Amino acid sequence: MSDELDVLVIGAGACGLCAAIAAHDKGLSVAIVEKTERPGGNSALSTGSVPAANSRFQREAGIDDDAERYFRDLMGIAGDTDNEQLVRRMTAVSAETVEWLIDEVGCRMELITAYKHIGHSVSRLHAPKSRRGIDLVDDLVAAVEKRDIPLAVGNSAVRLIVGDDRVCGVVVDAGDGEEMEIRARAVVLASNGFGNNRPLVERFIPEIAGAQYFGAPGSDGEAIVWGEELGAAMQNMEAYQGYAAVADPHGSILSWTTVEKGGVIVDEKGERFGDESLGYSGFAKNVLAQGQHAFAIFDQRIFEISMAEEEFAELWEHKGLKKADTVEDVANAQGIDGKAAAKAVEAYNTAASQGGTDAHSRTNFGLAPLQAPFYSCRVVPALFHTQGGLSIDDDARVLRQDGSVIAGLYAGGGAAAGISGRAGALGYASGNGLLTATALGRLAALAAAADIAAGG
Ligand SMILES: Cc1cc2nc3c(=O)[nH]c(=O)nc-3n(C[C@H](O)[C@H](O)[C@H](O)COP(=O)(O)OP(=O)(O)OC[C@H]3O[C@@H](n4cnc5c(N)ncnc54)[C@H](O)[C@@H]3O)c2cc1C
Repeated sequence: MSDELDVLVIGAGACGLCAAIAAHDKGLSVAIVEKTERPGGNSALSTGSVPAANSRFQREAGIDDDAERYFRDLMGIAGDTDNEQLVRRMTAVSAETVEWLIDEVGCRMELITAYKHIGHSVSRLHAPKSRRGIDLVDDLVAAVEKRDIPLAVGNSAVRLIVGDDRVCGVVVDAGDGEEMEIRARAVVLASNGFGNNRPLVERFIPEIAGAQYFGAPGSDGEAIVWGEELGAAMQNMEAYQGYAAVADPHGSILSWTTVEKGGVIVDEKGERFGDESLGYSGFAKNVLAQGQHAFAIFDQRIFEISMAEEEFAELWEHKGLKKADTVEDVANAQGIDGKAAAKAVEAYNTAASQGGTDAHSRTNFGLAPLQAPFYSCRVVPALFHTQGGLSIDDDARVLRQDGSVIAGLYAGGGAAAGISGRAGALGYASGNGLLTATALGRLAALAAAADIAAGG
């Protein structure tokens, strides 16, 4: 790897890989350093879905969409945000980003038309056929290899090199106590958020700090720490995506279909404690607040629908669910108060059959009233990923608190201010993570090319 580069990218998730490809295609010398032993990060754990408004693929499918409509959808779900301009920018470049991924990078993706996703009024997510992020990452890595872009895995960036009031490189831990300086005219922070850094989660998102982190291990928040040292502004720091029901002790996701289709969640006393239809992300903090474990209860019809999902079928196979003919027995099988659980489900069933609202303000009952036989699963809440980060301009340049640019420093994906609102778990629309990763990665590279050409 050359030690004098145009662009050095920190992190080989979707953001970093896109940044490197776009920089290379602009004629710049570029390399990627990746902390872990393989590329992918959270991008590999995702469904690989990238939203785009008014893409060629939507038009071919007869779907009428545009950036303005997408912007309204996102603002509708995000509510208050520290960076409305970023939402506008991301929605505006979404279609060109997805078309670039497919046409120029060679990612094998298709428009998902079978169902819409949270926060979208039309079908606009584009994903690998498998709906697995690892396939998107594999295609991006193949594009990096085709271009002979150096990608050094097992090489963690440990600090930025700063001189003459600009960022001019990175010090990398090259293993065995060796450090290596890599000089670059532009450094792209593509190292994701701070989900794996407990003190930062406690500081910025205390409501979810007690939950286990369920993302990739590399998200240690260096971008936030280094940015703060340089006086960078931070935005939307309290925003995150959570998950209310990770099966315990199995550690796999209990499909939210179980709840969406009419299941309920009770506490160790067998009582419900909130409106589960807040969604898997929004309800995570309620599960965390009520105690150590919670218990999902649903019925045979919901079980059969959920069995279409691979991870759910595996959970059943691995004995992650209990089954019984009564709610009392299926709750007792989890070691919780069966009589109380039966009473809770009875009240819920009455509300469901009458329609309207139940005691916890739930109005969406799916297939309920629940019918025998019943299933239960012990669950814990999790933090998937953080959504806030460094303040950036329209082209991913990192900004100080006074709005000035930190020369030589760019950020995208989970390292940058997100588009999921200012706070909490309710502002996240499907695809917000990968759109800001892919679009800002590409924009960072284009901005670096322009800045270098201008002598910056
Ligand atoms: C279970 C799960 C499901 C998800 N589903 C979706 C979805 O369907 N759609 C969606 O849009 N989003 C989804 N997300 C969120 C999405 O995956 C992320 O928002 C997105 O992948 C972030 O991309 P990134 O490139 O910024 O970070 P990552 O993909 O995490 O890549 C960052 C990389 O940087 C490396 N790194 C970190 N620090 C350093 C360092 N100091 N030096 C060198 N390398 C470093 C990391 O090891 C990692 O490989 C999901 C997340 C999870 C956990």
